[in-house]
Amino acid sequence: MLTLNDYNKLYNLTAGVTPLPKDCGTLCGSICCRPGRHNELGIYLFPGEEAMFTRRENWLNWEAQDPAEQCFPASWPAPVYFVRCTAPCPRESRPLACRFFPLAPHLQRDGTMLLIYETLDLPYTCPLIAGDVPLQEKFIHATRLAWQIMLGDRRIRDLVEEDSRYREEKNLPLRVVEG
Ligand code: SF4
Ligand code: SF4
Repeated sequence: MLTLNDYNKLYNLTAGVTPLPKDCGTLCGSICCRPGRHNELGIYLFPGEEAMFTRRENWLNWEAQDPAEQCFPASWPAPVYFVRCTAPCPRESRPLACRFFPLAPHLQRDGTMLLIYETLDLPYTCPLIAGDVPLQEKFIHATRLAWQIMLGDRRIRDLVEEDSRYREEKNLPLRVVEG
């Protein structure tokens, strides 16, 4: 299981890298930083990641949810934390799921991991997914390395495994990221 020390390492590993050399929010008005028309947009924290926060952050709104109700794997402990950004964040404090976007891991049947563009059905268009914008090598490298570490946590691997089988079941096209 990932420890607080592991999360600190993951935060350090991903601290200085971004998809583009410039702020990609300038392409879309930072649309993924907003809570959405129905307050539905936010970020799930990974198990134990909540220890990276004080819960007094004035840019985050917290919601504790039941992982079973949100269709997380049975191995996930309760509660699972869903956070919404209510103001611009201090970049060094971004949750991991924000740091990885728009990339995601996909586990093949033989257990090898592919790094792909996110296949989630989003209520907005991310220009990094929709367009042909090359991502920075160092971002791809750090994201791949971080996911390889994270897959060592059974609970996170269960989630990635379930998401991967879902993609196969739905025949979702995979855009694999090289590098
Ligand atoms: S990740 Fe995509 S949607 Fe989010 S700010 Fe960057 S370009 Fe916009
Ligand atoms: S953590 Fe920061 S960059 Fe990520 S969605 Fe929230 S405000 Fe945007």
